[in-house]
Amino acid sequence: MKTAVFSARRYDRTMLTRANAQARHELRFIEDRLTPATAVLAMGCEAVCVFVNDNVDAEVLDLLGRQGTRLVATRSTGYNHIDAVAAERLGIDVVRVTDYSPHSVAEFAVGLLLAVNRKIARASVRTRDGNFDLDGLMGFDLYGKTVGVIGTGKIGMIFARIMLGFGCTVVGHDVYPNPGFEALGARYVDIDALLDCSDVVSLHCPLNEDTHHIVNAASLARAKRGSILVNTSRGGLIDTEAAVAALKTGQLGGLAIDVYEQEASLFFQDLSSTVITDDVIQRLVSFPNVIVTGHQAFFTVEAVDQIMQTTLESIGALERGEALTNRIPAPEP
Ligand code: NAD
Repeated sequence: MKTAVFSARRYDRTMLTRANAQARHELRFIEDRLTPATAVLAMGCEAVCVFVNDNVDAEVLDLLGRQGTRLVATRSTGYNHIDAVAAERLGIDVVRVTDYSPHSVAEFAVGLLLAVNRKIARASVRTRDGNFDLDGLMGFDLYGKTVGVIGTGKIGMIFARIMLGFGCTVVGHDVYPNPGFEALGARYVDIDALLDCSDVVSLHCPLNEDTHHIVNAASLARAKRGSILVNTSRGGLIDTEAAVAALKTGQLGGLAIDVYEQEASLFFQDLSSTVITDDVIQRLVSFPNVIVTGHQAFFTVEAVDQIMQTTLESIGALERGEALTNRIPAPEP
């Protein structure tokens, strides 16, 4: 099936081409993000494959639909970048990758936590410069501390299990509590209690209307002073300017983020030779107790392999007229 692959980086080309060896779909790799201006590049493609920062809003879906697109397949779990209501209205199916190594993201969240708490990135920069001084590099033991997990689905569960292995007390908050979470030895509390008691808070819920800015000025003021916030989920979960303010006062002791509210115009590209005009991200990276990575938590061989395979399976299912098992949940009426 003719498929336009937007936001295609080198690894997308390599791994998707390899996964496509048998199915032999006709893949059209497009480096640009999908936007109203680039939608025309998918002309004649029944399937369009997108990534997290592609703009799949009503206008784009309308353009795609008129060009013959019947399926949008996102190479991600989250689908907050897709207007599900418009897709349904236009009769365009939307599929995602519900299951791919959740370990990739959970393990990365732990890595970010250790990096920011124990100042590993700072230490590495220092030693490269011949500076072996320890001043400013002190962290705290995770053993015996309380870790709050917001969103206890696939990734949150694995993160919780790893933190329990560190000897932490783990508390969680979820709108759909999962009995498996308490079976691990963790317990559910309401979100205020979680903020009150947690030395570390890690976000693992999806971005939607209810969770947009779930971490804001009020919740940061409520959080335990000096606690660390980790976000590997979606940037819009945190009001970033409120986080900057809380970092300035020391209320927030550390911030480790793999995702950023305004990442669409920054991430997945080399901007090292350009002037970055986003003052918030520039302020963030200037803090000694902040670590920012460019949406790489999913980026393991196992996870990317699975993403590509599932995406091609969905395109194959459409071609054969079979049921689409990875459809996104139907929008609420
Ligand atoms: P999941 O659906 O298995 O789990 C999400 C959990 O969040 C569910 O248990 C759900 O009930 C809960 N939740 C929903 N609304 C909530 C709310 N208002 N408050 C608290 N909990 C709420 O999803 P997952 O596979 O664990 O992925 C979690 C998120 O991680 C995804 O939505 C995606 O945004 C993000 N993600 C990021 C990367 C990355 O590379 N950084 C990769 C994959 C996924």
